[in-house]
Amino acid sequence: MSSYITDTINYLKQSSPAQAEFYQATEEVLATIKPLLDRNPKYQKHNIIQRMIEPERQILFRVAWLDDRGTVQVNKGYRIQFNSALGPYKGGLRFHPNVTAGTIKFLGFEQIFKNSLTGLAIGGAKGGSNFDPKGKSDAEIMRFCQSFMTELFRHIGDTIDVPAGDIGVGGREIGYLYGQYKRLTASYEGVLTGKGLNWGGSLARTEATGYGAVYFAQNMLAERGDSLEGKVCAVSGSGNVSIYTVEKLYQVGAKPVTISDSNGMIYDERGIDLNLLKRVKEVERARLTRYAEERPGAVYTPVENYPAGRNGVWSVHCDAAFPSATQNEVSVEDAKELLKNGCICVAEGANMPSTLDAIDAFLASGIAYGPAKAANAGGVATSQLEMSQNASMLQWTFEEVDAKLQRIMEHIYRTASETAKEYGAPGNLVLGANIAGFRKVADAMIDQGVV
Ligand code: NAP
Repeated sequence: MSSYITDTINYLKQSSPAQAEFYQATEEVLATIKPLLDRNPKYQKHNIIQRMIEPERQILFRVAWLDDRGTVQVNKGYRIQFNSALGPYKGGLRFHPNVTAGTIKFLGFEQIFKNSLTGLAIGGAKGGSNFDPKGKSDAEIMRFCQSFMTELFRHIGDTIDVPAGDIGVGGREIGYLYGQYKRLTASYEGVLTGKGLNWGGSLARTEATGYGAVYFAQNMLAERGDSLEGKVCAVSGSGNVSIYTVEKLYQVGAKPVTISDSNGMIYDERGIDLNLLKRVKEVERARLTRYAEERPGAVYTPVENYPAGRNGVWSVHCDAAFPSATQNEVSVEDAKELLKNGCICVAEGANMPSTLDAIDAFLASGIAYGPAKAANAGGVATSQLEMSQNASMLQWTFEEVDAKLQRIMEHIYRTASETAKEYGAPGNLVLGANIAGFRKVADAMIDQGVV
């Protein structure tokens, strides 16, 4: 590892202890932007890296709420406003029991470069809580969201910071958060994205991240004279990103055969039953065992029975893989297994799903590898389209938004691919995406002075 990377990571370990995921995200970026730094001493002169790894503002707060038995519950709340060089802060909220400051920092850091890559005017942020929505009643979710927003509202605004959903935060949670924001501010503004369609939401926002990941895979394969048509695909997760990845894969003639959740996975050789998946996850909010009960021929494997040290989803024979659940869900052993079984394309719907070793294995193999910052940027890009519609008081049709999303994903692919070539690493979209994303933010920071 170059000394500037080691020095930076050591500095972070000392100044921001116990944030392993944040160090990992930082190391991935630093390891790839070295050619840019070597060619442009101005970034060092302006101390850009040291400024970029330090969030502009970190808001940590208590979220107290009453459960259905009347017991007081307390969770941690976070909003980390990382970088506003390119526009208002933008990035989702994650509600999951494993969330720590390090999780939100890694997500916020990645968001800076992802948002830059979209070509849109948005800065990077992320937020959330260690609240676990699983098993909670609607009333408990509402009380939690109201308490969370009662602190968050003073830090956000349609030109300041515009949160969206992420793991554990979907349409229901955005609704409760928005209602409380409106009540506290008496203002009807586009302060959150992922809103309901009859109160300011954008058509195609729900679908955007999954659809975008498939569009990105199509772009990677088209440059290699190939396509997704007829390809067998492994998809992990069974939430927002996974469901709409599965939907789009069918639309382009591919066959998704797996889905998973934190308890286990489904292998459905005939292809995932999309309607059943939507009913189980979006309507009933049930576990995947329900899918297996209702779908003859589908095989359910609990996590305890996964191959030792591996994720069962990546042991399935597939042509293309779409990690769409969570961070570090693809280890180097998983990557090797995918490659051994003939996988030629990986498009990351989740954030940082592959470990650093797994990324190295994909890059060394020369397969089409679409890193998260590029491949899953369709969600935030469409969120920005929602902000545009709110600001102009217009609503575009599904087809208009989807067409814009497709153009944005192609633009992101071209930018990453051409930047990789410019820096002597054709096909390395990790390097291409990181350099292109970093360069734009860094140049804006220099223009805006020492702030
Ligand atoms: P979601 O709707 O809450 O679904 C998350 C899915 O991942 C669920 O099936 C969940 O299973 C599974 N999962 C979560 N944590 C897990 C763990 N530790 N181990 C195994 N499975 C786990 O969330 P989402 O919006 O689809 O987000 C999925 C990923 O995409 C995240 O990395 C997110 O940051 C990224 N992403 C989302 C968007 C967006 O627009 N939503 C945009 C860009 C990137 P359980 O139900 O068992 O927890």
